[in-house]
Order: sequence, then structure tokens, then C-alpha cells
Amino acid sequence: MSSDCIFCKIAAGEIPCRKVYEDSDVLAFHDIHPVAPVHFMIIPKEHIASLADAHARHEMLLGRILMLAPTLAKEQGLTDGFRTVINTGRGGGQEVFHLHVHVFGGGKPRPM
Ligand code: AMP
Ligand code: ZN
Repeated sequence: MSSDCIFCKIAAGEIPCRKVYEDSDVLAFHDIHPVAPVHFMIIPKEHIASLADAHARHEMLLGRILMLAPTLAKEQGLTDGFRTVINTGRGGGQEVFHLHVHVFGGGKPRPM
């Protein structure tokens, strides 16, 4: 755990969140500033600062996070599809430096 990381604090239960899913390695919770009618993110409980800081030993964990996205999206009512975003580094628009996968949808998707 990184002591000054807000998502580590959420994963440790020190800061509340609107939980979507939790297991021993992964947590999913709603984004506090949603960009779509449904917007949550999936994070590893382990502090990994960004996708660029992940190592080979994280392969399975990252795979699990991605595999959870469609299941949780469907449970949250996104039966018609969803968008996944991983912002990486300042140049990628990352604001919270604890790896997270945004999952959102339910509105009209903006073309990329
Ligand atoms: P990113 O730009 O990918 O680093 O996005 C960080 C996201 O975290 C933003 O969409 C914020 O709205 C969201 N966020 C920041 N603090 C919280 C919090 N305490 N609970 C839920 N979402 C948060
Ligand atoms: Zn962290």
C-alpha cells in the first residue's frame, strides 16, 4: 500500500466508495465524477502506479481485471456494450496514479 494513494485507501476501506465488486485481489467501485450514466472502475488492490509500471508478474492480475469488465458491466445494466479506458501517465491524462480500468456506458458514445 502506498500511504498517500487515494485508491490504496479505498482498497483498504479507509475511504468509502460505492462498491461494485470485491475479491481478495481486485476492487471495483463507481467513479465519483461519472462521464456516463454508468461509470465504474476496476483496480488491483496492490498498488501499481500505472499500466507502464506493471510487470510480467502482474499478467494474470491484469487479465482478471479485463475479464471482469464485461461481467460487471452487464450486472450494472450495460447490456448493449461499454467502453473501457486506461489512462497512463500525465500525457495519457492519468490523474490518480494507481492503475485503474474505467468502464462506462449507458449513454450515446462519443466517436473516438
Ligand atoms: P484518471 O484520469 O484515469 O486517473 O481518473 C481518475 C478517476 O478517479 C477520475 O475519473 C475521478 O473522478 C475518479 N476519482 C477520484 N477520486 C475518487 C474517489 N474518491 N472515488 C471514486 N472515484 C474517484
Ligand atoms: Zn495505490
